[in-house]
Amino acid sequence: MRTLAVIGLGTMGLGIAQTYAAAGFDVLATDAVPAARDSAQARLRDGLRPRVQAGKLTEGAMEALLGRITVVPDPEAMGTASLAIEAIVEKIGVKRGLFAALETVMAPDAVLATNTSSLSVAAMAQGLARPERLLGLHFFNPAPVMKLVELVAHPGTAADALSRARQVTEAAGKTVIACPDRPGFIVNRCARPFYGEALALLEEGRSPAEIDAAMQAAGYRLGPFALIDLVGADINLAATESLATAMDGHPRYHVFDVLRRQVASGDLGRKTGKGFVHPQ
Ligand code: NAD
Repeated sequence: MRTLAVIGLGTMGLGIAQTYAAAGFDVLATDAVPAARDSAQARLRDGLRPRVQAGKLTEGAMEALLGRITVVPDPEAMGTASLAIEAIVEKIGVKRGLFAALETVMAPDAVLATNTSSLSVAAMAQGLARPERLLGLHFFNPAPVMKLVELVAHPGTAADALSRARQVTEAAGKTVIACPDRPGFIVNRCARPFYGEALALLEEGRSPAEIDAAMQAAGYRLGPFALIDLVGADINLAATESLATAMDGHPRYHVFDVLRRQVASGDLGRKTGKGFVHPQ
């Protein structure tokens, strides 16, 4: 597996493309939005530049890494890839449509992977001609930095597809942990009460900065609101709503109005330049 494909060049897709390219893989990358495709190389360069300035990456290594990422106009140009990972919008219908399109262009033994945070991989496989090659590869934000990748099989995923996805991802330096195809997998499920209690405290009148300061001083690397800003409030809301639905509205997965209002305000965090505590 030398050539991989990444679809969706937002927060996660860009980081996933960089991760595999840094490990020497050739990456074909695309996005439905022309501006996202056109700006991808510049955004990658901006992200890598501080590492060059800090002496952690040579200019030549940066250029070589960027040279291994080829932005293509659409998934139809991804037929040579052995593994395609989608990091597009968190909507099952849109993801299903993308996989159906990918099935028509990719080799029969190519692996298809979703970076979904909270949707059912089994549900995503429904309707595919070869559901056995679909699996979850759930990266964490920022993808080039975070070690963990959750590997998710649905009941019909082939062992060979899982081992190939694991192999390339471990080759990219990640710690790959097999997870059940249950809402939120492991990390997002455990994280829901962490966010939920912070949002409850906010509704009770504490400030995001105050809550984050307490949690950081207690030893967490980031407070819950800095984490929501990093992930994106919209993504956090989508993940919580998805878990709440999948868990039949269990109060552990309560969707707080304050989070809905934050998303409605458009202050989604780092990606929009303003969030609960960003910029600090
Ligand atoms: P994002 O909004 O930053 O980027 C999504 C990109 O996908 C956008 O550039 C958009 O133009 C593109 N896109 C949307 N529909 C498309 C389509 N049909 N075809 C091609 N491109 C399309 O989102 P993100 O934060 O990168 O999240 C992407 C996925 O990764 C979601 O499934 C999300 O749940 C998951 N995820 C997010 C995080 C996080 O911290 N943000 C972490 C892990 C997993």
